[in-house]
Amino acid sequence: MKLVCKDCGTVDEPKTVARGSMAVEIVLWLLFIVPGLIYSIWRLGSKHDACRACGSEKLLPVHTPAGRTLAEGAGYTAEVIKPSAGAVSAGRALGRLVGRLKR
Ligand SMILES: [Zn+2]
Repeated sequence: MKLVCKDCGTVDEPKTVARGSMAVEIVLWLLFIVPGLIYSIWRLGSKHDACRACGSEKLLPVHTPAGRTLAEGAGYTAEVIKPSAGAVSAGRALGRLVGRLKR
């Protein structure tokens, strides 16, 4: 699901990040087992979605009213899937056929 960032206006899939740092985690594990374990559990529990561009946690789904307003303000327009030329002509032919049958 695409999310819009409240801080920078980026519209993209979020990335999952953990708080703290891998370096601190490794040092704690090397020095003492218990603090390392606690730190690892805390980091796993802190995983959250963040903006790919700026790392902000303030993200809104694009399909919500506030998210759409923000995304459009940042120049994002939702993709519109157009039907193929074949589908359009098949639809027209079917419409003509139904029109003839109704008469
Ligand atoms: Zn951002």
